Amino acid sequence: MKTKNEILKTIPSVDQILTLLQIQKLNNITSHKNIVSSIRETLENIRQEIMNLSEEEILTYDLSLAQLIRQIEKTIEKNTTMSLRPVINATGVVLHTNLGRSLLSEEVKEALWSVASEYSTLEIDVDTGERGSRYTHVEKLLCKLTKAESSLVVNNNAAAVTLVLTTLAKDKEVIVSRGELVEIGGSFRIPEVMEQSGAKLVEVGSTNKTHLKDYENAINDNTGALLKVHTSNYKILGFTKSVSTQEIVELARKHNLPSIEDVGSGVLIDLTQYGLSPEPTVQGVVAAGMDIVTFSGDKLLGGPQAGIIIGKKKYIDLIKRHPLNRALRIDKLTLAALEATLKIYEEEEDIINRIPTLRMLTVQKETLYKRAQELKDRLTSSLENFAQIKIEESQSQVGGGALPLEKLPTYVVSCYSENISTSQLEKELRYADKPIFARIFKDRVCFDMRTLTDKDIEDIDKSLKNILKNNGGY
Ligand SMILES: *Cc1c(COP(=O)(O)O)cnc(C)c1O
Repeated sequence: MKTKNEILKTIPSVDQILTLLQIQKLNNITSHKNIVSSIRETLENIRQEIMNLSEEEILTYDLSLAQLIRQIEKTIEKNTTMSLRPVINATGVVLHTNLGRSLLSEEVKEALWSVASEYSTLEIDVDTGERGSRYTHVEKLLCKLTKAESSLVVNNNAAAVTLVLTTLAKDKEVIVSRGELVEIGGSFRIPEVMEQSGAKLVEVGSTNKTHLKDYENAINDNTGALLKVHTSNYKILGFTKSVSTQEIVELARKHNLPSIEDVGSGVLIDLTQYGLSPEPTVQGVVAAGMDIVTFSGDKLLGGPQAGIIIGKKKYIDLIKRHPLNRALRIDKLTLAALEATLKIYEEEEDIINRIPTLRMLTVQKETLYKRAQELKDRLTSSLENFAQIKIEESQSQVGGGALPLEKLPTYVVSCYSENISTSQLEKELRYADKPIFARIFKDRVCFDMRTLTDKDIEDIDKSLKNILKNNGGY
């Protein structure tokens, strides 16, 4: 019987492996240095594996050279592909935070790459040749689109809220309704953001009901601001009362206090005309008189990750000058993408189709059905009898903490195979050349057509075929 040590001794050395023809061929794919470190990594993993073998497993353990080479190739592949890379979103969740939220418009590409690869007008005044401000590139556009007096853009909306509160209400009390103490995924919680900013949270009302007089009774000499937070990822239904933007504005004015609203999702067009539930539009909140409004760039706006702050010039000027702003400042790539996105809104032509997020949210059911038919036809012909393929009606989600109750009617293509368990199939799809994220429903893997492109349909077909082939399908 072999001992662990004897097995360990049969592992070839790095130098021996390097002389193998199959390994030498890899020189075309990656550098020598990468190959050597990947061989080392693989050998170390194999050593560990052997050390962890049980007595029984030792008896049957066998490491062939072919297997070893395959493992090395896998390690090289893992070490040479980008960790951050494109995937296929077949979940139907449009603003999928973990998959990157909004997709940028095709038209943004050029703006983004030219600013990335060349020097730019980032902080220079072309007229005078003197130093300028990076915010000018989007400030006018934002003011034009929202009718606000002034604007500023930072890293994300969490940063925006923190910066606004710290500038306007540090060491002072900020009054918020108990029904609006929102938690957004990724540990953004209003009470904690408030604490970070140095403002003191004063909760008023109850979870389901807050009245204007609750705010009024809480105002004192130490009050710094009134804050309204859009409950973007939940709704309180039934016996409820919340205070409107308008009412908060009037109360704040009466007491000479700044009014702040975090609208979160930041929609600029009325989506009810496409059958979606009403969401406060940014312009609507500005028109109601809010002094400061903050929202995300990559939710319903459909742009890059950013936190947009708009409102009264006297407050925005203070916020711009706050030292924390420097730490939260937006980079040139984001600015380029944001300007190009906002220009689409400015042109007012075919906005819904040019902004991918809006296109996916408003796509017609017939279009989804056609796409489903195409995927089904492809899969049925390439997978023959190795999988059951069906078109089913289902519901997709908006995601990103926007329109929480919205269930968008959709079509999915669902797949079930006797040869592989549904959970294993879902997992192997994630390991595809271009990883595919699907959802599982009633023990079937489902591809939601809402978030898929024509190219994705081809890729899903290819990957599924591969997976079923390797699982004894063909
Ligand atoms: C999403 C959201 C945030 C956080 O925005 P990020 O851009 O993700 O930082 C804050 N407040 C509300 C109400 C939100 O919906």
